[in-house]
Amino acid sequence: MEIKKTAKKACRFCEEKKDPSYKNYEELRQFMTERGKIIGRRQTGVCAKHQRMLSREIKRARQLALLPYLVA
Ligand SMILES: [Zn+2]
Repeated sequence: MEIKKTAKKACRFCEEKKDPSYKNYEELRQFMTERGKIIGRRQTGVCAKHQRMLSREIKRARQLALLPYLVA
């Protein structure tokens, strides 16, 4: 059995003291599923603030065709 409250890590962006940016779309990709969906912060451990920025930056990257929209 797994105890789920043990992994209390700071979010990646807080840890590295940087904000998600569309310019780092390769990095944003890690927060997306193979089908192009944004992974929830329950799974990624990203804090609420950065999750918001993350989704905004992913949307921007999509508009610039750096990241795919939903892949069917
Ligand atoms: Zn954060």
